[in-house]
Amino acid sequence: MDREKAPVAAPAVEFADCLPLMLASGPAGLRARMLGRIVSAATSVHAGVTTHTAIRCRRRPLRKACIGHLVVRRQDLPAVVQWGCPECRDRGLIRGFRNTPQDLSRHACLFEPECEVLLEESEYRTLEGILTLQAPAERVVMAATYTPFGIRLAGRRTELDTLLDDLFAAGKDPESDIPRETLDRVVLTIDRGRRHAR
Ligand SMILES: [Zn+2]
Repeated sequence: MDREKAPVAAPAVEFADCLPLMLASGPAGLRARMLGRIVSAATSVHAGVTTHTAIRCRRRPLRKACIGHLVVRRQDLPAVVQWGCPECRDRGLIRGFRNTPQDLSRHACLFEPECEVLLEESEYRTLEGILTLQAPAERVVMAATYTPFGIRLAGRRTELDTLLDDLFAAGKDPESDIPRETLDRVVLTIDRGRRHAR
């Protein structure tokens, strides 16, 4: 077993230390935003649920981008998020994330999802890049999961309605740099999933 894979305790991060770096450039900013993304994913579903998220691992073992998507799990007492990459075994613990802007637990869905949608990874990255999502839409996007067939969005019909509203707004925004064809394709796919609600 090499040193990197030795079973040592996962490094813990106080999330408050990341908040001032959210808009920073360079590796510190990238890492803060990744940890923020992990907190949002872990707080948009129930505690105790292990989620294979749509978050791409940022490590580059042997100078090649890791192909993994992060797995996250949250516990509430005490409040801790565990995360790890199933491919390269990078992992960590996050504490002190409660009541931060990235903590979505107040919007977490208490109901079984009524509809689900599979998007291509590139289509999902488009959604992830929209910074003006309303809370219900943000929850659906942040709670997305990785599957071998694509990125799965699941939620209540009203949440997908909100996401569609936000996508229409993004399409009308002259500042938006989202390619029109991608946006149209994503809207069609989500609308189809919404109409097949359980
Ligand atoms: Zn990895």
